[in-house]
Amino acid sequence: MELIRYFRLYAKERFGTRVQKIPVALPFTCPNIDGSKGRGGCIYCYKGSRPAHLEPWIPLKKQIEEGIQRARERYGKKTRFFVYYQSYTNTYGNIEFLKNIYDVALEFDEVVGIDVGTRPDCAPDEVLELLSSYKEMGLEVWIEFGLQSANFETLKRINRQHGVSDLVDAVLRAKKYDLLVCVHTIVGLPGEGKEDFMETAKLIASLPVDGVKIHPIYVMKNTGLAKLYLSGEFNTLSLEEYASFAADMLEIIPENVIVHRLTAEAEKDKLLSPDYCVYGRKLEVIGAIEEELRKRGTKQGTKNPFSVSLSQVKGAIRNFVKVV
Ligand code: SF4
Repeated sequence: MELIRYFRLYAKERFGTRVQKIPVALPFTCPNIDGSKGRGGCIYCYKGSRPAHLEPWIPLKKQIEEGIQRARERYGKKTRFFVYYQSYTNTYGNIEFLKNIYDVALEFDEVVGIDVGTRPDCAPDEVLELLSSYKEMGLEVWIEFGLQSANFETLKRINRQHGVSDLVDAVLRAKKYDLLVCVHTIVGLPGEGKEDFMETAKLIASLPVDGVKIHPIYVMKNTGLAKLYLSGEFNTLSLEEYASFAADMLEIIPENVIVHRLTAEAEKDKLLSPDYCVYGRKLEVIGAIEEELRKRGTKQGTKNPFSVSLSQVKGAIRNFVKVV
């Protein structure tokens, strides 16, 4: 068993070749921006987490074609792809619109899956059912729910406009549709300390979650968080602090949970802090976390406090059904 169950290792085993995610940007908005849940968005939100090189007015098919071409030049012709619906809330729209945009992934033989990022309060059953239908068409389907923290006070402080219970509900319903579920967390949010990060990791460990994203909080210019940072009311974590907290969380997260991300990257001229979140330093951050685990002699899942795995639960349910 490796130190960390990275997505790239999982995908290589699953598909027999390198798999790259192609992020795409679409003309979505978010219920926390358009007023249906809140206005102004989460205090750290910068263009709905859209990658710098993407624009939603570029046709989706062209974004995917260009993403495939770029990745193939770098990683070779055998590379396969996930279309990653990343920015804003990619399940927030009427069902026909959503179907049209997910359907584009089916036009590419090289695409083996889709990965849809959203909020836990924005995943009605009809959308989960639609996503599940792509499995029957041969795609692997991941849904990513942004939780960020298991502390409701933090969620209020950062203006998430959803609760922890929304995440539990969304995960359990997504599993009813047999979707692969990834939960997104942030380390170092305002007002949080180690016990909050540990609680977030424990919540993930207690749920039937297949994947996790962990990244440090970073401050983009012209956001609510930037005001707190510039006024001195809030500071980001040093790389050493982040590596230590991320290692703490990984020790709790079960060893079979797939780690999709361990850091965040932003453009230098738009980023206020921390400097290790600038594009190009990703491997340094990941290296620091791995080094921390090696130093401790631990790895992902070493301190998972919950011993009942999802497969054991499924087995128990199957036995129960047989008896009844
Ligand atoms: S949920 Fe995402 S897109 Fe919506 S405001 Fe928060 S960070 Fe921005």
